[in-house]
Amino acid sequence: MKVPLLDLKKQYISIRDEVLKATKQIYDKQQFVLGPEVERLEKEIADYCSVKHSVGVSSGTDALIIALMAAGIGQGDSVITSAYTFFATAGSIARMGAKPIFADIDSDTYNVSPEGIENIIEKMTDAELENLKAVIPVHLFGQCCEMDSILKIANKYNLIVIEDAAQAIGAEYKGKRSGSMGDFGCFSFFPSKNLGAFGDGGIVTTNSDKMYDKLCALRIHGAIGDRYDHQIIGGNFRLDALQAAIVLIKLRYLDTWSNARLSNANKYRKLFINAGMEDIIKLPVERENRHVYNQFVIRVKEKRDKLHLFLKDYSIGTQIYYPSPLHLLNCFSYLNYNKGDMSAAESASLNTLALPIYPELTYDQLEYVVDKITEFLNK
Ligand SMILES: *Cc1c(COP(=O)(O)O)cnc(C)c1O
Repeated sequence: MKVPLLDLKKQYISIRDEVLKATKQIYDKQQFVLGPEVERLEKEIADYCSVKHSVGVSSGTDALIIALMAAGIGQGDSVITSAYTFFATAGSIARMGAKPIFADIDSDTYNVSPEGIENIIEKMTDAELENLKAVIPVHLFGQCCEMDSILKIANKYNLIVIEDAAQAIGAEYKGKRSGSMGDFGCFSFFPSKNLGAFGDGGIVTTNSDKMYDKLCALRIHGAIGDRYDHQIIGGNFRLDALQAAIVLIKLRYLDTWSNARLSNANKYRKLFINAGMEDIIKLPVERENRHVYNQFVIRVKEKRDKLHLFLKDYSIGTQIYYPSPLHLLNCFSYLNYNKGDMSAAESASLNTLALPIYPELTYDQLEYVVDKITEFLNK
């Protein structure tokens, strides 16, 4: 049996006719950039996330960049984020000329820990605190961060909150949707995300009218009103009509797919418990409801890399998210972090493994994955 980490073909087959019909209309119109499909998507995503506005952009990374630009973050500023996330979160901060400051994670949820953030702030000098402008909580693997505490800290120190919700569209924290709690929410339509386009794309959410206007201008080189009257410097962060049309179709199925991910997670849980594995592997901790399981990440005490290779031999695709915490990457050596600075993030990068969790998995496939993991770890 084959169990790839992700099988996008299965999902495509289920929506193929709709996609071909919608994209054909765009070929016939020959209107490819922004336009009515993007506007419709922006309205529907804003509704879906319970926010006032959303602005379609060229990728999840660009969503972060444009949110940082709109927030006015640049040279001399610093921004706190998680030591354990996809590179783009911290890369975007650095690309704006600002300094990323890493906080350690909660070792149950892998999300940045509010205590970790507060500890860092409390140790800052007045001058450092003066430069601290924002915090980027990352809703990792499909589960929201502990937002009450994070918002409280942000409020206390007057920080802008940019939610990196690239992996968590539709996830909820105490009834609130991801991307609706901070000043900005950043989403990605990269094909492996829960709501994936047929290429790159992303969207930024905000409840602020002022920030909405600024994001719209920044997306088209900073032009406001008259196309060649630039009051601010922006870039090309536009979303394609084709991607918007495809994402609009997929959005109608998103909740069905998210529920299927959740159901697969529950099946894994039962199968692992029935196999007597609950003390040998650590299953994902579901602290917030609703978790949308972009990834189902288990933790093993040892032999993670060998398990990864063993499963590969049996045609089971798994992945290590992420093999290095960000503070230990070479490109951030100028920040002078050392091994041991973020013990929870470092340990997660050594022990975690993401299993296939996509909606179209069959029960037989889930059983096969659990059987093979059990076989390897009981050897
Ligand atoms: C995927 C991802 C991004 C970047 O999105 P792209 O669309 O690939 O640019 C940013 N942050 C996190 C946490 C992600 O998972």
